[in-house]
Amino acid sequence: MNKPVELKAVPSVALWIDGKQKPATSTRAGDITNPATGQITRRVPFCNAADIDAAVQAAQRAFPGWRDTPALRRARILMRFRELLDANKDELARLITAEHGKTLADAAGSVQRGVEVVEFAMGIPHLVKGEYSEEVGTGVDCHSVRQPLGVCAGITPFNFPVMVPLWMFPVALACGNTFVLKPSEKVPSASMLMADLLKQAGLPDGVFNVVHGDKEAVDGLLNHPGVKAISFVGSTPIAKYIYETAAKNGKRVQALGGAKNHAVVLPDADFEFTADALIGAAYGSAGERCMAISAVVAVGEAADPLIAKLKDKASKLKIGAGDSKVDGKEMDMGPLVSRVHRAKVAAYVDKGVAEGAKLVLDGRTFKTAGDGFFLGASLFDNVTPEMTIYKDEIFGPVLIVLRVKSLDEAIAMINANQYANGTAVFTRSGGAARKFEREIEVGMVGVNVPIPVPIAFYSFGGWRNSLFGDQHVHGMEGVRFYTRNKVVTTRWPDANALPQGFNMPTLG
Ligand code: NAD
Repeated sequence: MNKPVELKAVPSVALWIDGKQKPATSTRAGDITNPATGQITRRVPFCNAADIDAAVQAAQRAFPGWRDTPALRRARILMRFRELLDANKDELARLITAEHGKTLADAAGSVQRGVEVVEFAMGIPHLVKGEYSEEVGTGVDCHSVRQPLGVCAGITPFNFPVMVPLWMFPVALACGNTFVLKPSEKVPSASMLMADLLKQAGLPDGVFNVVHGDKEAVDGLLNHPGVKAISFVGSTPIAKYIYETAAKNGKRVQALGGAKNHAVVLPDADFEFTADALIGAAYGSAGERCMAISAVVAVGEAADPLIAKLKDKASKLKIGAGDSKVDGKEMDMGPLVSRVHRAKVAAYVDKGVAEGAKLVLDGRTFKTAGDGFFLGASLFDNVTPEMTIYKDEIFGPVLIVLRVKSLDEAIAMINANQYANGTAVFTRSGGAARKFEREIEVGMVGVNVPIPVPIAFYSFGGWRNSLFGDQHVHGMEGVRFYTRNKVVTTRWPDANALPQGFNMPTLG
């Protein structure tokens, strides 16, 4: 059982408003738990509408000055922020592991993927360049500019406390917007460190703010007339709610949802290579990744040799606290994020057995001495599309295998699934891979790459119920999301004389 902690001994996370830490006015709060120990380590305030209003007002006040700061100077602040992220990457990884549970190496990798978005956003002077057409009529010119929206808000999930916020705010800030971030109430501490690093980088007060909480805080953002755009990443039911509510309130919105990512394995695949790739993709971060492979679709005779290898490798996974080592080596898998989530994932394993799937490896039997939220790796064979463990997103260390006769059957199955975030095909055949790539209706596709998370200068996002909205995050779609286009048509009676000078002009 969880050892009760005296709440007065547990520090509380603050809000970040106007460049400094502030307490919330709300008296509602939640616990932050270390998943490896089950211990409550901190409290987090659950903001009310007044707290949200204070953050949005700070962002509104900061907007005109930030909008009018030349893009070059905004980029230079992001360059300093990038250096500070790098200098603090170990501390960021430590905070992620302490609140989410994933291993330190995995946490550090996710920080690096977030830093890459900052590096993309540093190129903002080039990215927001408009178009110009001379003499569209006699003496008439036409040009377009991309301008910031105002106050933008980000609402993020528990599984990537640094990377997912970094998908959003570096691009939003680079474009000249101000920002209010509402991180997951389970993992709020890394966002507070990033706010401090932005201040150290020279970001003016009020440009970036952090609020905390649950539905009440989120509704405060969705209903605030001062918020112009909402970026959301989380589960599909909440993503749909966010999209509908924000759109009804006249806001621009991108809402990324849940996933069921399939890996199709053809009989000509290299099974050793494929099994290694699938084990990392299915059980890394204890399966709590929106791009985790959770369903293997084995074509023809691929199934038996592949499952034998998966079983062997999954049964040898090292499971333990994310910051622990055995014989100098890190764990492969940490605990799940919460006691409730662990119970939910274990219940899915029960359900799979009850519905007739073959349980090849039972993660429920995994035991540790402490009170952490650990679950071993589970592997199911003979799963069919009607089963709950196929239809639902489990978001835990449970890999299911479905057997099909052909690549066409695999593609049809994936295209019929409600989710369409990521998918992968494993084969040596260029023709089969090309057919898969062309016919699959999924947002992000890997060919012999199990987790095809796009690099920062491409855009991240799924199709169908994995994304509500028109623009994916980061890359050029991120720039388009956080700016609006204006077209200016100009006629002058005569040309103005340019001022004369002798020195090399500087603009930034
Ligand atoms: P979640 O939907 O429970 O929470 C996400 C955010 O929404 C949090 O900030 C939370 O405070 C807020 N929230 C929760 N309930 C709410 C409600 N009723 N009304 C308004 N706001 C609410 O998701 P989670 O459990 O934190 O994260 C896991 C989910 O996120 C999985 O479904 C996973 O697939 C998804 N995810 C998707 C992507 C992607 O890129 N598509 C990336 C990461 C995670």
